[in-house]
Amino acid sequence: RAARSGEDGVRGYVPSMGQIFLRRFQLVTQFRQALECGQIEVHYQPKVALPSRNVVGSEALVRWSHPEYGRLSPDEFVPVVEATGLVDALTSFVLERALGRIRNWLDRGLRLSVAVNLSVRNLADETFPDRVSEAFDRHEVPPGLLTFELTESSVMADPDRSLPVLRRLRALGVVLAVDDFGTGYSSLAYLRQLPIDEVKIDKSFVLGMGTDLSDMAVVRSIVELGHSLELSVVAEGVEDDAARDQLVGMNCDTAQGYLISRPLSEERFEAWLWARTSKVAPGECGAPSGE
Ligand code: C2E
Ligand code: MG
Ligand code: MG
Ligand code: MG
Repeated sequence: RAARSGEDGVRGYVPSMGQIFLRRFQLVTQFRQALECGQIEVHYQPKVALPSRNVVGSEALVRWSHPEYGRLSPDEFVPVVEATGLVDALTSFVLERALGRIRNWLDRGLRLSVAVNLSVRNLADETFPDRVSEAFDRHEVPPGLLTFELTESSVMADPDRSLPVLRRLRALGVVLAVDDFGTGYSSLAYLRQLPIDEVKIDKSFVLGMGTDLSDMAVVRSIVELGHSLELSVVAEGVEDDAARDQLVGMNCDTAQGYLISRPLSEERFEAWLWARTSKVAPGECGAPSGE
């Protein structure tokens, strides 16, 4: 019997190559059905402005409640799904959910953005921008409320294909962010050429800031680099007050991490929002201050 993931995704024993292969094969064959029968859910992790702590939006993060393996981490199944054409279905699913959420919030007076992670395959797909544009029209959502996060490696896999796609997405008015910044090529010359609005500092550096001076230096230089290119800078992996205070001192624009909140189901995210805004003085609209 194959290994069962715990809540934290740590396996109880080291599986053999055969078991790993079998499990991946199962994940690929079961994924589409999982999408259709509600095993795949989108959770939302808040992003807050620094230093105000106003909620500016959230990142959509996918979760798979697998009947046999339990809660699977996207770090396990997204790469498997990415290796097949199925990632198109995943991106469409998350995008549909995200736009539906944004519209629902707008209808209730909340202006919150959502960030959706893209895969290398989306960036190589010249039909993707038209499909995104159609989805904005259908949901009647202003494109500026959607961010796409892409990693450096997914852009650099085939820049001749990905750059035109990125330019067309950006022309729609979508916000583009480079995710996990600092872990890939990260060359200044290359960053300048990308049609992007935002960099997200990889959480490994932010998590290390408290104990490792070189991580602190990396974070500081990414903030400076980002600002010198007129990009907004987001730190992910903000787990404690010390990290938040250091980021405020560096003028980092936005924070995301367990200190603020873990990724939450739709219902719990809403409850979290309302709990925060209930602290707003009566007479104010009660909506979280957005952008
Ligand atoms: P990511 O896009 O870099 O997302 C940030 C990850 O950091 C999330 O992991 C989030 O739960 C985690 N995180 C946030 N704050 C903290 C913190 O304070 N401490 C720590 N230790 N971790 C924190 P998650 O949800 O497991 O997602 C992992 C990766 O899976 C994502 O990394 C992204 O690359 C991918 N992914 C998730 N959802 C999607 C999706 O819908 N589409 C695609 N293509 N990839 C996705
Ligand atoms: Mg991301
Ligand atoms: Mg990241
Ligand atoms: Mg990541």
